[in-house]
Amino acid sequence: MIYLDNAATTKTAPEVVEAMLPYFTEMYGNPSAIYSLGSAGKKAINEARRTIAGSIGAGPEEIYFTAGGTEADNWAVKAAAESYSEKGKHIITTKIEHHAVLHTCEYLEKRGYEVTYLDVDRDGIVDLEALKAAIRPDTILISVMFANNEIGSIEPIGEIGAIAKERGILFHTDAVQAFGQIPVNVDELHIDMLSASAHKLNGPKGIGMLYIRGGLKIRSFVHGGAQERNRRAGTENVPGIVGYAAAVQRAQRLMEEKGRRERELRDYLIDRIEKEIPYCRLNGHREKRLPGNVNFSFRFVEGESVLIMLDMKGICASSGSACTSGSLDPSHVLLALGLKHEEAHGSLRMTLSEENTKEEMDVVVEHLRQIVGRLRDMSPLYEDFLKSQKV
Ligand code: PLP
Repeated sequence: MIYLDNAATTKTAPEVVEAMLPYFTEMYGNPSAIYSLGSAGKKAINEARRTIAGSIGAGPEEIYFTAGGTEADNWAVKAAAESYSEKGKHIITTKIEHHAVLHTCEYLEKRGYEVTYLDVDRDGIVDLEALKAAIRPDTILISVMFANNEIGSIEPIGEIGAIAKERGILFHTDAVQAFGQIPVNVDELHIDMLSASAHKLNGPKGIGMLYIRGGLKIRSFVHGGAQERNRRAGTENVPGIVGYAAAVQRAQRLMEEKGRRERELRDYLIDRIEKEIPYCRLNGHREKRLPGNVNFSFRFVEGESVLIMLDMKGICASSGSACTSGSLDPSHVLLALGLKHEEAHGSLRMTLSEENTKEEMDVVVEHLRQIVGRLRDMSPLYEDFLKSQKV
């Protein structure tokens, strides 16, 4: 098997599993309990909080554990909107956000909030002048993702943060794809709230976090017990939190080497596809791009058919976001880049890990070349296109 869907999820690293195991079998006490079996869990949570906070230049008291990136995004956007509604009801985000942000904004629109969805350029990058122009006296929140999950484009987060800070507007970023892959520092980038998730960086599924800058008046998301300083109730997922911290430590340790390896493989794969498969388009920015992201549109083919045929060869890839796969709608991200519906339908995302090899990339290109060729041979559109070329 060749696994090229690391933006959907990653393999939990053995050292992460090892760190988690004792919290299932030995130190299973409830962290809120007084006895030492419970306090062992509490101690582990505190240590994990320190590790994760340190990795983004935050304080431990600014980290709140959640059940993943989706919950963190929901919390940030809904709670910021509600907590600052006296100042205004206008939110700015982009057309290429993950549905965790987009659908939350749509939910708020039905409740009297106004949302501006910024366009992006052909490479998926937000225009800072358009952002400035969209700001109004009643703007209370800017939410722009750190890096896009489909096309890998990295947004100018520091510049956006500086604009938000200067205007006194809260700035949230969905860093689910960026955290653990590229350096993130909340102070340097003027970030007020940041969402992240463990399973994208070789940690367990079902655990994530929301960073909330100290002093911000953000209401709690889940009501109940006093966990997470009264802001996110529910017995803590101790093994998940411990595993998250182990994954963050691992990601920090490997970031440079892993990034270098993935970039090399990514550029090799992009180069070979561009040279060997005609009528394709690289989606996303060529340089300002996550180390492991490759996203192409192939004209005259259906991405879903390519995926099925790749799967028969033991290759796991994706046509975009895992959340929209299975849906017949073309990717909202690719449409926002200006692609036509049929181009967006013919897209393929391959996201690499440091475990992939150059030999695997060679196998992938070989199969892809044959698959795209075979599908085009069956396509009446391609036949018409070839005829029109001859005229
Ligand atoms: N935001 C982005 C950019 C993502 O890529 C994802 C997951 O694919 C999420 C949010 C949701 O994260 P989770 O799966 O942890 O809920």
